[in-house]
Amino acid sequence: MEYRGKHIRQQFPILHQKIHGKDLVYLDNAATAQKPSVVLEAMDDYYTKINANIHRGVHQLSQDATDAFELAREKVRAHIGAKLTSEIIVTKGTTEGINLVAYSWGEAFLEEGDEIFITEMDHHSNIVPWQLLAAKKKAVIKYIPLQDDGTLNLTHFRSEISPKTKMVAVNHVSNSLGTINPIEELIAIAHENDAHILIDGAQSVPHMSIDVEALDADFYVFSGHKVFGPTGVGILYGKESLLNQMPPYHGGGEMIKEVKMSGSTWAELPHKFEAGTPNIAEMIGLGVAIDFINELGLQNIHDVEMGLLEYATSELQKIERLKIYGTSESKASVISFLLDGIHPYDVGMILDKLGIAVRAGHHCTQPVMDHFGIPGTVRVSFALYNTVEEVDRLVEGVKRAKSMLS
Ligand code: PMP
Repeated sequence: MEYRGKHIRQQFPILHQKIHGKDLVYLDNAATAQKPSVVLEAMDDYYTKINANIHRGVHQLSQDATDAFELAREKVRAHIGAKLTSEIIVTKGTTEGINLVAYSWGEAFLEEGDEIFITEMDHHSNIVPWQLLAAKKKAVIKYIPLQDDGTLNLTHFRSEISPKTKMVAVNHVSNSLGTINPIEELIAIAHENDAHILIDGAQSVPHMSIDVEALDADFYVFSGHKVFGPTGVGILYGKESLLNQMPPYHGGGEMIKEVKMSGSTWAELPHKFEAGTPNIAEMIGLGVAIDFINELGLQNIHDVEMGLLEYATSELQKIERLKIYGTSESKASVISFLLDGIHPYDVGMILDKLGIAVRAGHHCTQPVMDHFGIPGTVRVSFALYNTVEEVDRLVEGVKRAKSMLS
């Protein structure tokens, strides 16, 4: 694949280095993706040419910085198919987006005895905020169960959702199993039962085209750093009608209409939820990351990733006593596996010595590991810059780890 006339790998400076004397093979993209030069340059440019605080200055630099920040918001809006830029709230990341909704929506909409449905496969950041909220409001958490192939048991969900259910929060794509969940169906079930639904898109936005309007999602959250953008920036999409009914999450500068010693009133959306100076350079970087994805084309990215997923799955499956967790037909480019009797950390450490970066552990999804009765897995996750040769190095590395540790 090419970008601006150069092979895609040339756009990612970090990939061209040796780790422990070996060419780096970076297969931890679900944790964070690497950043292309255009994103790095955009952030550098911001600090070199227009650094100023936004939304508050009359001077030229402040206006330029504000324009660049708001242009990035508009790019995000268009990218995920939202109707209004005011529905795009800039956060620190997925975790902050979910906490914002749990706190603020919970304050406005949740009462004692109400139910919140999450899933057994969610990331801890889509479990713990709801547990905190439930404890505060005396609400009840219910779980959509995980099945052994890594899919959700929707029959159970349909039978258990009730008029008491006020929120359903579910990941679009599982970070530990790779499963792509049928969110259209989940959204329909939630809405048939008058519940709101939040989709954790941390692992979906990097891989597929999202249209929040067509989906009719009430809330959709994701992180910049997993879509080739910087850390420290993320997005909460929310329906305007809901966001308008929700109280602010943080108080401070920028989020007010008027402050009197006797009390304050709030700014319009999206600023009501954006107290304080945001991560300006990072938001501009995210806008450029979105341009980068769109210029390459999500379909092209998908094709590369699916090719790597299929090839790696079939090669890894040839290794005896290797078990893959998450075998749904509908998967993103994530493979979790274990070698029988060998701890995932040991495999991860041997791969690291071979220059291959993978993740080993529970991947912030302990209920998934409990379901399978395992301590964790080795997880490889592919991005558009990975290659078939890198998959071959991975497979050789896993075989070597197996023979060393058996
Ligand atoms: N949800 C999912 C599905 C994730 O994969 C992650 C990151 N691993 C998160 C939430 C949390 O994202 P962040 O740490 O960027 O807030």
